[in-house]
Amino acid sequence: MICVSIGRTRHKMMILEHRALADQGAELVELRLDYLSRLPDLKRLIDERPTPVVVTCRRKQDRGRWRWQEDARLTLLRTAIVSGVDYVDLEDDIAGSVPRFGDTKRIVSHHNFEETPDDLEERHAAMAKLDPDIIKIVTMANSPSDCARMLELVAASEVPTLGFCMGEFGLPSRLLCGKYGAPFTYATFDGERVMAPGQLPFSQMKDLYRYDQIGEQTQVFAVLGDPIGHSLSPLLHNKAFEHHNVDAVYLPIRIPRDSFRESLEDLDWLGIRGYSVTIPHKKAAYEFADEPDGSVEKIGAANTLFKTADGLWHATNTDSKAAIDSLKAALPEGVSLRGKNTIVLGAGGAARAIVYGLLEEGAFVTIANRTNSKAETLAGELGCQFVRWEHRGKDYRDILVNCTPVGMYPDMDETPFPQNWMSENILVFDTVYNPENTLLIKQARERGCRTVSGIEMFARQAAEQFEKFTGIAPDLEHLRSTVRKTISPVNYES
Ligand code: NAP
Repeated sequence: MICVSIGRTRHKMMILEHRALADQGAELVELRLDYLSRLPDLKRLIDERPTPVVVTCRRKQDRGRWRWQEDARLTLLRTAIVSGVDYVDLEDDIAGSVPRFGDTKRIVSHHNFEETPDDLEERHAAMAKLDPDIIKIVTMANSPSDCARMLELVAASEVPTLGFCMGEFGLPSRLLCGKYGAPFTYATFDGERVMAPGQLPFSQMKDLYRYDQIGEQTQVFAVLGDPIGHSLSPLLHNKAFEHHNVDAVYLPIRIPRDSFRESLEDLDWLGIRGYSVTIPHKKAAYEFADEPDGSVEKIGAANTLFKTADGLWHATNTDSKAAIDSLKAALPEGVSLRGKNTIVLGAGGAARAIVYGLLEEGAFVTIANRTNSKAETLAGELGCQFVRWEHRGKDYRDILVNCTPVGMYPDMDETPFPQNWMSENILVFDTVYNPENTLLIKQARERGCRTVSGIEMFARQAAEQFEKFTGIAPDLEHLRSTVRKTISPVNYES
């Protein structure tokens, strides 16, 4: 169950939001009485409540907004209990002085906004002595392992425990606490009004992560990166799980630079079955893998880690295959990449994977990169040609591939390759996928060239990962349309 927190300065707005949430299917709502600008009129808020409620009134010392005396707050909490509210939230230092009465369930809570302390278990054991129906323990996660520790505590607790971590590192625990027995998790009314660091909007919890479907048996997958907040992979994979009726959830997990192995070892307890890996961890993923495949060995980077029945971490690089499949799909029937004269712009991770794939297919590849020395090094490592950046318009005949971010939102009026250098009737592949129709793609079409967009590659690399994770070949068109909907022009403004 998801408990949605609402905190507004006016009673009227609180009541309206509560009704709106009930209409959206919320089953439990937390009324943050400390947000009200006047002394709370509890009766007005709860008499015709459209859902069960948790009554909470936080002091300033707990990052709440209560501006009156502590006595008045305690009276309010006692009144809530006598009025028969469904749950009342009592901080652990006052829980002992507010007695149980009637059917109201007591949530004994503790917050630590700085860290997940070493004495988490001791704190939890002390709270268990305060006559709780539910223990709520919420701490700041400063690393992925804090989440794992918190979830282990939730799983081991005899008293139902709402345990999760705040902050970006804490997100997995907010989404997985129910899997380990937490009676509910918290969400916010919308993204504008977040009441604790890392809180997700109700709609995302419900529709993207399908929190209420996550159970003991639900398999967990994740994307690892730093930063990770803007990754589209959670959207793509979660929508695909829903589309294909797979009991699984896919989370974003921020893994700090230089702590890849250590973080994955700490997360081991969660039994995660597969990871997508993005910047800056693709090399570390290769080094972490027990069984890297041939593409990973040659590219020196992996974007996918997955466990099979042997219990080992296998690694592959779906970027390479996705790019090659995208190009092949755009070639006329019966035409292959063998012998195709191709220029690749860029010498970063994407270029490395794509050049490797092209060479495997027998294409002739030339690399050009803004920093010429990197093009030379990559060409030397993979065994192909390079050309100086300023000469990238010369000497190519069949295919142009952009593996730089030039043209990506918000710099959509830029192109890595001037239109007047472009030959007619070549194949132009821009790996940039936001926007789908980059300036490079538009100008190539004006020249009569065939084009391949970054969305094609993005959808295909996710499809390949999905198949490695679940054994199911996903509906590619569904993946494409999921990405397109998300990066439609409307979203450029947000
Ligand atoms: P990366 O490792 O950081 O490499 C970036 C490359 O772009 C470097 O070669 C860099 O040149 C070059 N570059 C950066 N800014 C430039 C500029 N203003 N002008 C000219 N060259 C510039 O990144 P990556 O992982 O290879 O990703 C590159 C792009 O590929 C991403 O931005 C993304 O749009 C795309 N991509 C798409 C997919 C997909 O599924 N569609 C997947 C992966 C990547 P220097 O060496 O001179 O810095």
